[in-house]
Amino acid sequence: MNRAQLTNQIKTKAEELGFLMCAVAKAGFMDTEAKNLENWLNQNYHGNMSYMANHFDKRVDPTLLVRGAKSVISLGYNYFNPEQQQDESAPKISMYAYGRDYHKVVKKKIVTLFNFIKSIAGDIHGRSFVDSAPVLERDWARRSGNGWIGKNAMLIHPKKGSYFFLGEIILDLELEYDEPLNDYCGTCTKCIDACPTDAISPQGYIVDGSKCISYLTIELKSSIPDTFKSKMDGWMFGCDICQQVCPWNRFSTPHTEAQFLPKPELMSMTQEEWKDLSEPVYNQLFEGNAVKRTMYEGLVRNIKFLEQ
Ligand code: SF4
Ligand code: SF4
Repeated sequence: MNRAQLTNQIKTKAEELGFLMCAVAKAGFMDTEAKNLENWLNQNYHGNMSYMANHFDKRVDPTLLVRGAKSVISLGYNYFNPEQQQDESAPKISMYAYGRDYHKVVKKKIVTLFNFIKSIAGDIHGRSFVDSAPVLERDWARRSGNGWIGKNAMLIHPKKGSYFFLGEIILDLELEYDEPLNDYCGTCTKCIDACPTDAISPQGYIVDGSKCISYLTIELKSSIPDTFKSKMDGWMFGCDICQQVCPWNRFSTPHTEAQFLPKPELMSMTQEEWKDLSEPVYNQLFEGNAVKRTMYEGLVRNIKFLEQ
C-alpha cells in the first residue's frame, strides 16, 4: 500500500469512528510555536498551571516523544450541543462538560484508530494523546490543516466551527501531508469585545490564562481573586463566551455521541438547587464527568463566588 492509500484508509477509519476531522502534518521541530510558548510563559499567562512550563523541549519537538516521528495525525471530535440549562439564572457549565469525560471517550477511539493503523501498516511505533502529555494540540491541528487558531486562541474550522476536542497520534510512519488553512478572523473582534475578564489581548491570539474564567473555575486551586467579582458572567465551570460569539460557530452541527449527552437532572437544576448542592447530589450528577476535576469543594467555591 502506498502513502496516499494508507492515509486515505486512516481518514476513512477515523470518520467511521466518529471523528469530525482527521488531517496529517509532517512531524518536526516547532520553531515559531516554541517562541510563542516561551513568550506566553514569560508573561506568566499560565498562572499556577506550572505543568505548562514543564517538558518544554518535548512540547515543541515530537521526536522527543516518539523516536523517529514522521507524522502527526490530528483528530477532532465534535461536542457541540445546542441544549441549554433550563433555568437561565442557574450557574453555567461549559458545553464540553455536559456528558461523560471526553478524555475517556476520545482516548478509547484514538487507541482503536492507532490499532487499525498498526494492522494495515505493520511494524510501526507511536503514541496517542488526548490532553494527556506535553503536546501542543492546537498547533498540530493548525499545521495539519484542521483549522486556524483564532483571536480567541481556539482552533476554528471554516465549515465546522470550534466546538471539538483534539487528539493526536504521533508515529514513525510517513503519510501524505495536508496543508494549513488561512486565518479567516479578518477584522472581527467579537471574542475580544465579549470576554468579561479581558483575558484576550487587544489584538487577539493571546489569552492570559490566569484571567480566563476556565482557569479561574477549574485550574485555580486557591480562592478566586476579588477582582473577578461580577465578571464571571454566571459561569461555575469553564466558559463558552468566546466560542458562542464567534461567527464561525454558526456552522457547528450537533454531535451524535450518546456519551456526551447530559443527564436530564443536570440540565433541570435550578439556581436554588445549585446553591444547596450536597456532595451526594454532586457525585450523582457528575459521575464520570470532567466536572469531577474541580472536586465538590471547588464547584461549591465557584457557586458561592457567583453569589457575592
Ligand atoms: S473562555 Fe471566557 S474568560 Fe476565557 S478567554 Fe474566552 S471569553 Fe474570556
Ligand atoms: S469571534 Fe471573530 S475574531 Fe474571535 S475567533 Fe471568532 S472570527 Fe476570530
